[in-house]
Amino acid sequence: MIQPAISFEQVHKTYSNGVDALEGVSFSVDPGEFVFITGASGSGKSTMIKTLLREINVTSGSVSVFGEDITQLDHHQIPFLRRQYGVVFQDFKLLMDRTVYENVAFAMRVVGATPSEIRSRVPDVLFLTGLTSKAKVYPGQLSGGEQQRVAIARAVANNPKILLADEPTGNLDPEIADQIMDLFMDINEAGTTVLMITHARDLVNKLQKRVITMEKGKIVRDQKCAEYAVPEGDVHED
Ligand code: ADP
Repeated sequence: MIQPAISFEQVHKTYSNGVDALEGVSFSVDPGEFVFITGASGSGKSTMIKTLLREINVTSGSVSVFGEDITQLDHHQIPFLRRQYGVVFQDFKLLMDRTVYENVAFAMRVVGATPSEIRSRVPDVLFLTGLTSKAKVYPGQLSGGEQQRVAIARAVANNPKILLADEPTGNLDPEIADQIMDLFMDINEAGTTVLMITHARDLVNKLQKRVITMEKGKIVRDQKCAEYAVPEGDVHED
């Protein structure tokens, strides 16, 4: 049997202040799937990603990644869990005092890549992300869209099985957001599972991928190839 890439079973998360951020969340994602997570602010989307990264522990329920219940991992196993992921955030989180090349190389070095692996891989991911001519440039000299490309190059450098993205187009103009989304699609088509939080209604509608909609800690819709489904009145659009 093929294990799901990600599986949440009856996950509850209550923060120490008593807020119930997740209330019985269950879903699974197949290897190679592309899934959007939408929902109003405070509905529990980021808590799901933090749970997957084991930045937080769930209160009850199980979370499995390729069949392994990650809620049961010891502390020393968490770095190995995180090596299965690439992570992209809204605010890029680049090393501003290092060049584009060095930003990507650094991400490989910290997981033990050899200098020759780095020399062979970094040019490939810079090519994939359209950054070949920017290798020696510092992030501060790049546009927002280019900076997000660097973040994506860094996220895929170690060939992650799963790409987690939290509002990756939230700071970008619509046209640039389109291009960034195309890049995520290319990476997905090459086999990487993608879980992306977004409020970008137009992009979700255009791409016709699975959409899970959260509301107050619960999944209220889980649609294949869906139209954008965040309730009217949620003002968070990109
Ligand atoms: P979203 O990503 O959909 O905006 P979050 O997962 O960030 O939602 O938050 C879900 C709920 O949990 C919100 O009510 C938020 O205020 C609360 N919350 C998030 N992080 C914490 C925290 N570290 N401590 C206490 N409450 C939190």
